[in-house]
This record gives sequence, structure tokens and C-alpha cells, in this order.
Amino acid sequence: AKDAGKNNSQFFTYEMNRAVRRRVEIASQLRNAIRQGEFSVVYQPRMDLIRDQLVGVEALLRWNNAELGIVSPQEFIPVAEETGLIVPIGEWVLREACRQAVRLHQSSGCDVAVAVNISARQFRGTDIVKTVEDALAETGLASRLLELELTESVLMRDTARAAETLQRLVEVGVGVALDDFGTGYSSLGYLKRFPLDSLKVDRSFVADITRDPHDEAIVTTIVALAHGLGMRVVAEGVETREQLALLRRLQCDEVQGYLLGRPMSAEQLLALLLAAEPG
Ligand code: C2E
Ligand code: CA
Ligand code: CA
Ligand code: CA
Repeated sequence: AKDAGKNNSQFFTYEMNRAVRRRVEIASQLRNAIRQGEFSVVYQPRMDLIRDQLVGVEALLRWNNAELGIVSPQEFIPVAEETGLIVPIGEWVLREACRQAVRLHQSSGCDVAVAVNISARQFRGTDIVKTVEDALAETGLASRLLELELTESVLMRDTARAAETLQRLVEVGVGVALDDFGTGYSSLGYLKRFPLDSLKVDRSFVADITRDPHDEAIVTTIVALAHGLGMRVVAEGVETREQLALLRRLQCDEVQGYLLGRPMSAEQLLALLLAAEPG
């Protein structure tokens, strides 16, 4: 039986392709990452185009592992989702972001909302409302300073239950944004059933917006739709002044992207806020 096990593991060692082995390695390292303090959260500014000021930040997870080095969230988040590890990891991010938002608020006096990405597994498989309430209670963050970012696929699976959960989150007082809008399998009809504060236009529509009239038409339509339903529009992935000028003309409410600021540590963010303080 011992030999069979060994053969088995040899079979896997030799036969699994590289991509699969990489995922297995990531999954195995992810298991201890919280305990070993390997995660950190960085914050990317979001600017309001009317007030011309920073109104919020998006919390983005970073992972630095002793063996794998820095692994991109595009690579490890899907593995965390498949393995279910996204549940404890997502709760850690939520708490860390709330804790740092409280400190930021106290040190700068600025009302900066923090947006946290919530994956499908957290939204459907756990009591997300209770998790959010607990994080707010434990850290003392005002609910109006917390936003959750959900993707279309999260809401589309069981729309009746999703609408009910969103309603309870609204009652808690947190904001909800629909992330990567336009890339999922959305039917527009469901939008009116969900109490959403904003739509985040996926950066694939922003990338070529100044060159591709189709992208401009899509963003124009998303803005009209969102405003018609009483929601704000946030454009993601803004990298150039030309994109910014066009998005302003198309009446986007807020923008986020490398032009306005890269994701940064809580310390850097505080320095930025203090420097921007008038007087
Ligand atoms: P996302 O939620 O769409 O986050 C925006 C991503 O775009 C971030 O990548 C950000 O660094 C990047 N970005 C921002 N501005 C620009 C720009 O101007 N140009 C370009 N090319 N990229 C820009 P990041 O941090 O690598 O995260 C990738 C994805 O991983 C996120 O996409 C999100 O889906 C997921 N993710 C990150 N942190 C978390 C988390 O704490 N929980 C969950 N569930 N997912 C997370
Ligand atoms: Ca997001
Ligand atoms: Ca996004
Ligand atoms: Ca994305």
C-alpha cells in the first residue's frame, strides 16, 4: 500500500502539467499565508470628477510568499476561490481594510470610503451580512465608509436571494458597487431589482475609448443606464489624460486608474491625504 501511494505521487509529479502543479503549489502555500503574515492590503484612489477630489479607495490584496515570491491576485484569487480559502482570506481583507480605514479617518479627518472586493463564494456560501456587521462592530468603522464590490456573476446565480442579501446590506448602511460591469452575462432587466450605488465600467472598455467609437458608445450607454436608475458610474483603468477628458465629457461620476494613482500602502495613502489637505 505504501508503494502504491508512492507510485501514485510519482505519477502526479511527472504527469501533471506545469500549470496544474503551479496551482497545487499556490493552494498549498495559501493555506498558511494568513497565519504567516504574508498578505497585505494596498489602496487605489478613486476620484470624484465633479468635486475633483479623492472620495474613496479600493482595497486590493497582495501576497508575498517565501517560496513563490510575489504572486499576482489574478493568479491566486481563482485558486483561493476554488479551494474555498477565499472565505477566511476575504474576511481577513475586510477586517484589515476596515481597521486601516478607521486609522486613516482618525489621522486625516477625511471621509474616505474603502471598497472591498467580495467573491462569489463569500457572498453565497457564508453569512456575508453578519461578517460585515461583525467587521464594522469590531473595528468601529462607520458603515457609510464601507463599500462592497460584487461582480455580475455573483448576483446572477440566484437573483431573488441576491436581491434580499443586498437589501439587508443596504439596511446595514454599506454601499454596494457592481464591478467589471459589461463583461459578465448580465441581462439589463435585473439591474432594477438590485439596490446598487454604482456601476464600475470594466477597464476593457476604457483602454481604447479614445480610439474606438464602439467603446465610447458602450460607455455612453452605461452612463445613461446607470443615471436613469439612480446609480453612479465609476470608470476603471484610466491611464491617460485623453481618457480622463473623454470620460468627464461622457459624465462619468468617478474615475480610478494609474493616471490618478497606483495601488499604495496605507502609510502612503495617509501621506497623500495629508498633503492634499487645504491649508
Ligand atoms: P478588480 O477588482 O477589477 O481590480 C482592479 C485591478 O485593476 C487591480 O488589479 C488594479 O491594480 C488594476 N488597475 C487599476 N488601475 C489600472 C490601470 O490604470 N491600468 C491597468 N492595466 N490596471 C489597473 P489587481 O490588484 O492585480 O487585482 C486583480 C483582481 O484580483 C481584481 O480585479 C479582483 O478581481 C481580484 N482581487 C484583488 N484583491 C481582492 C480581494 O481582496 N478579494 C477578492 N475577492 N478579489 C480580489
Ligand atoms: Ca474591484
Ligand atoms: Ca473591476
Ligand atoms: Ca477585474
